Amino acid sequence: MVSENPIKGELKMATIIDGKSLAKKTRENLKIECDKLKLEGITPKLAVIMVGDNPASKVYVRNKSRACSDVGIEYKEYLLPEETTQEELINLIKNLNQDKEINGILLQSPLPRHLDINEAFKAITYMKDVDGFTPSSVGKLCIGEDTFISCTPYGVMKMFEEYNIDLTGKDVVILGRSNIVGKPLIQCCLQKNATVTVCHSKTKNLEEHTKRADIVISAIGQSNFVKADMIKDGAVVIDVGINRDENGKLTGDVDFEGVEKKVSYITPVPGGVGPMTIAMLMNNVIKATKEQQKEKSML
Ligand code: NAP
Repeated sequence: MVSENPIKGELKMATIIDGKSLAKKTRENLKIECDKLKLEGITPKLAVIMVGDNPASKVYVRNKSRACSDVGIEYKEYLLPEETTQEELINLIKNLNQDKEINGILLQSPLPRHLDINEAFKAITYMKDVDGFTPSSVGKLCIGEDTFISCTPYGVMKMFEEYNIDLTGKDVVILGRSNIVGKPLIQCCLQKNATVTVCHSKTKNLEEHTKRADIVISAIGQSNFVKADMIKDGAVVIDVGINRDENGKLTGDVDFEGVEKKVSYITPVPGGVGPMTIAMLMNNVIKATKEQQKEKSML
């Protein structure tokens, strides 16, 4: 269906934002940067910590290791048993903080219930915080300083950039307020001069917010939650969700087939935000490596 695009001010068909291609292009550019570092004798290295035996985490970790090998980043996995204590986890993080061979540390979530993930994130040194989850990274993002931006929100912002979607003055409605997606997205969108509304499970009349939004970003984790009648004609819809529907099929939060017919831009699942998240992790590992080298050269 043809819809009016308020972002571009013209009539057009919905554009499917191709996260897979953009991620590939991003990884290719990062490979060039990584090769340059290698010529200087520096090989970026990412440490990934996984605790327990979560099947979804295993898939995410495998995808991250593949992306590292594409870009030329070395990858080391630390697989800890389910019964790992908080102290053991923090000790490993402290050792990795000190390890000169390691440039980035990623702690795969979720952790087993007896472990406190925020305490563990706090233990990661800022210089190796490639996921952007430490209080230092989050604080810097809030005051608009250069920092490690959480990979999923960063990937979403790169999509806006690539597709020339200007956020200035736009009403952006974010569904979900998690520390890893919703909250950093607030800051990212504010920095691009959007007017931001955040909805969550206690929001009343959520549809009233989404219906007036120029841009809806959904990160709630429920299959087909966002339906066509919740979205205004010509809006931009970004689907962060990764879920399984009742038939076990991978879905986002958005009823893609219904919503696609009335919007100007939309991301698919799979092939949308997911690949960009991993590409931005690679970006952050290269950034961390370069910053650590700069710091060393200043000593
Ligand atoms: P989360 O920590 O579970 O947070 C979900 C958020 O959604 C919470 O703020 C929750 O509200 C809100 N919510 C849940 N049900 C709602 C409802 N019916 N109406 C309104 N708000 C509702 O999840 P997350 O880690 O942010 O992940 C969200 C989704 O994104 C998941 O599907 C996850 O798999 C996916 N994800 C994808 C990527 C990617 O790379 N594409 C990366 C990370 C996450 P309350 O705060 O009130 O509980």
